[in-house]
Order: sequence, then structure tokens, then C-alpha cells
Amino acid sequence: MVFQFHTDAARLALACIGESVLRFNECLSQLDATPGHQLSIAAMSTFGDRLPEQSFREMAAMRPFPEDYQLAALARRRDRVADLLAGVESAKAASGAVDIVREFLPEAAMDAGAAIPVDVYLVAVGHALGDAYIRYVVYDRGHWAIDANAGVPVILVNLTVVADTYPGDHEQVVKAIFSVLAHELFHCAFHRYLERALPDTEHIQGVERFLDILVDEGIAHYVDRVTENEGAPWLFPRDRAAALMEQMEAAVSRLLACPSSARDIEEVIVAATTGPYWKKFGSMGGCLLVAAIDERGDRQCLREIAAANDARLLLATYERCRSRGLPELGPCLRAIAKDAAQ
Ligand SMILES: [Zn+2]
Repeated sequence: MVFQFHTDAARLALACIGESVLRFNECLSQLDATPGHQLSIAAMSTFGDRLPEQSFREMAAMRPFPEDYQLAALARRRDRVADLLAGVESAKAASGAVDIVREFLPEAAMDAGAAIPVDVYLVAVGHALGDAYIRYVVYDRGHWAIDANAGVPVILVNLTVVADTYPGDHEQVVKAIFSVLAHELFHCAFHRYLERALPDTEHIQGVERFLDILVDEGIAHYVDRVTENEGAPWLFPRDRAAALMEQMEAAVSRLLACPSSARDIEEVIVAATTGPYWKKFGSMGGCLLVAAIDERGDRQCLREIAAANDARLLLATYERCRSRGLPELGPCLRAIAKDAAQ
């Protein structure tokens, strides 16, 4: 497995890739030059020096800046954003994050044939959808484009969202950036592994989609907590656990009642994975299950769960090894856990 961090080539970027390009610092200085921040930076590439010269032409085309792209927030936070960029570039902590990610990946994900370069771009503005996210991109006839099927993964970290929402002082926030990078790196490597090892997982439906979140987001969230903890297990906050368990149980019960209702499935999946940190009951519920197993020192078991992408085994193992103070599985979840291969 090969991860490549390109913090040295950091560029300002938007989620809509492949239009015009501005250098990070040029964008910051344009904020000064342009009254009311009606900038022409309709889209900035994520891909720095590899973009061809002609893409720069579009910089001249004035377009209103989409509200979603948080230009006002960048204007407010510009010094902090610039400091964070410098902080990450000088931190050189990337290899530590990569080592922790490796501990949670199936062995087959680290075969030579599975190696993928993952470029990481620190960007100043982007889609409001998140502090960090993955895009699959291809380079075709002079333009970068998003292509979920054929593209290679790149990770975008939106430093304005980070500056706006992460608590703590400069050092803590820089550390948190590496944690979120570890989270996204896990996704990149795990998804690549799933494509190769378990190619049918794309077409699952109903409750299976929710169960997949428990494994994928559950481990990814736990990986970022452990990265923040410098590799040590992270004790899941006990006061959060019961509510998450109830929400997971309610979601599964709803999906089992209407197994093929597209609307129910979509609503549950969106609610389970988006919004404020502790409201993401699928992601954080999965993290609870994973944390309880790691608390018992069973990282090998977590790698096996990842290798089989097996939420049933995750649930069954949780129930077997959860320590006192952590909630038991609800009835629907317990029934699902019973199906785990012994
Ligand atoms: Zn995630």
C-alpha cells in the first residue's frame, strides 16, 4: 500500500474539478483585491502543477461564487487557514497516520498488487459537505474530471471548514487534520480492497447497506480516534453509547419492516452518516462496536471483520466482548448478529 502526501503542492480547490486553477496564495490575495468577494474563482483545481497551462485561461471568466463554497468563511479565517497549511506542511506526521491505517486493513489490502497512490490536497475552499472527502478523478484530454468508476482516489481536506469547525489550538488542529486524513486513507484503501476482493458489494440494498456503514464508517471513525490517540485504543465515551445503540436498533427495525422502500433506505442512510459528529448514528454506532472490540485488544479480529466486510461478525463480536457499561444489542441487531458465521 502506497500513500503519497502532496502537502508541498497544496492548492486551492473546489469539488468541481477540472475548470480553472488558482494557486492557494493567489486566492488568498485575491480576497483582498476583490470588493465584496465576488471572485472569479468559480472553480479551482485540486491538481496543482499537473494541470495543463490552458486551464488557466478560465480564470478570466467571471462567475459568481457559489454560496456553498464558503468564500466568506475563508475571508474571515484566512490567516488561520494559511497557518494550518504551513502547519501541516511542516508537521511531517503523515507516516504515523499511515502506519495506524495499516493496522486496521485486511492483509490482502496491502498486497503489492493492491497498492494505490493517494494524492492528498489541502484546499482553501470547497463544497460545504465536509472537512475532508474523497473524489475519484481521471485526467482526460487536458481536463480533470470526476469519474467514480474509472478514477483514482484523491483526498481533499478543506482547511476553511477545518478552521471554522475544529476545536483546539493550532497544534491540536494540525494533529486533527492528520486524524481525518487517516480516516479518509482507510476509506480509500478499504474501498479498493472491496472492489478487488468482494466485487458484488456495490449492489446490496436494504438493511445490508446500513450494515456496510457500520463496518466502513465504523472502522474509519475509529481509525481517526486512534490516530489522534497516537495508536492507543480509544475508550468510547460511555454517555454516548446507549443513545447510539437505540438509534441503530430503530434504523434496522425500520429497514427490516420495509426492506425494499427506496425512500426509507435513503432517509436512513443519509441520517446515519451525515450531520454533526454524534448525530451520525451509523458512523458513530459502528465506531462504538469497533471501539469495544479494540478495547479488548483484538485488532486482529477487526482486520478479519474488515477482510470479510462482515457486519454480522462485528455485531456478534461486540456482544461477546463488550465491557460493562456498554449497552447490549437491541433485539433486531441481536438477531442479525446470530447469523454471523461462527
Ligand atoms: Zn468516512
